[in-house]
Amino acid sequence: MSLPQTNWPPVSFRTNIPPATNIFKPAPVLTWTSLDRWAAENKIGAVRRMSNGPTTRYFIDCKKGLLILEIGSTEAIWRGMQFHLGFAPEIIDNQVFIHGLDLQKNLVPLLLGEPLAFGTNRVIVIDPGHGGINGGTISVLDNRPEKDFTLDWARRVKPLLESNGWTVFLTRSNDIYMTNASRVVFAETHHAAVFLSLHFNSAAPDPKPAGLETYCFTPTGMPSTVTRGYADPRLEKISSNDFDTQNLLLAVRLQSTLQRVTQLEDRGVRRVRYMEVSRNQKCPACLIEGGYLSNPREAEKIESGAFRQKLAEAVAEALK
Ligand SMILES: [Zn+2]
Repeated sequence: MSLPQTNWPPVSFRTNIPPATNIFKPAPVLTWTSLDRWAAENKIGAVRRMSNGPTTRYFIDCKKGLLILEIGSTEAIWRGMQFHLGFAPEIIDNQVFIHGLDLQKNLVPLLLGEPLAFGTNRVIVIDPGHGGINGGTISVLDNRPEKDFTLDWARRVKPLLESNGWTVFLTRSNDIYMTNASRVVFAETHHAAVFLSLHFNSAAPDPKPAGLETYCFTPTGMPSTVTRGYADPRLEKISSNDFDTQNLLLAVRLQSTLQRVTQLEDRGVRRVRYMEVSRNQKCPACLIEGGYLSNPREAEKIESGAFRQKLAEAVAEALK
C-alpha cells in the first residue's frame, strides 16, 4: 500500500526520521514453497513418491540427476550421494513443501545451476589437519596420530595436483603446530582459489562408525547439520558465505569422487559453522574426513600407503 504524498511533517522535522529500511527490516527468506510448483515452473520434471522403502520418500528425476527427499528428514540424496538440507521437507495439502533457503542454497545450485568450474587462478592450499602438539585423533590399531596420516595424504596430493596445472601450497610440510585461524590467514596470503583441509575421523570408543564425510560452511539463516555442542548463530553472515554455491558444489564433487574411488561408506556432505578452518575464508573451502581411525577395518586402510595414495588420487581427480 502506498501512502498519499503529504507535506507533513515539515522538512525541518524530518531530519531525524530514519529511512524506512531501518524501521522495517527486510524479512529473511523463510517461505515454504511447493516443490511441485517449483519443479513445474523450472520444467525439471514432476515430483513423484517412491513406492519402496518404509519412509515417505519423494524424487525428482531431472536432466542433471536424481534427487531423493524424505519427509521429516534433512537427509537427502543427490546422484546417489548423501547431503543434508537445512530444514526437513513437509507435506502440506498433499504436496511436498520445501524451505526457501533449501531451494536457494541446495536445489537451485544442484538441479539448475552451472557445474563447478575453476577460473584462471589455479592456486590451491592443502591443509594437513593438526600437527606438533596437536596430534588429532589416534588409530585404534596402534595409537598412531591423525597428524601423521593427514600430512602424508597432503604430500601425496601435491604432485598430482601440480601435474594437473595447480600451484599447490601446503599449510604445513612437517610436524609443526599451527592454529586453525593461521591456516585461514595462510590461504588468504597465498591468494588461494581453493582451500582444502584433510582429516581423519574418530568416534572412539565406539568402533562401529565408518565412512567419508565432506564439510563446508553453513549458509546464513540455515541450521548446521552438526554442531557438536558449539554455538550455531544462524543469522551470522561472514566472508565464507560469499561462496555458499561453490562450497556446496566443491563438497559434492569431492565427496562423490572420493566415495567412488575409495568405496568407503558415504556419510555425505554436511554444513557446519563451528569448524574454524572453514570460517572467514576468502575462497571456497572444504574439509574432508577420509575415514574413521576408531574403526579397526578403516584404520587398517588409512594406515596403508596404497590407500592414502587412492585418497590423494581422488582429490586430484575431483579438482580436474
Ligand atoms: Zn582432524
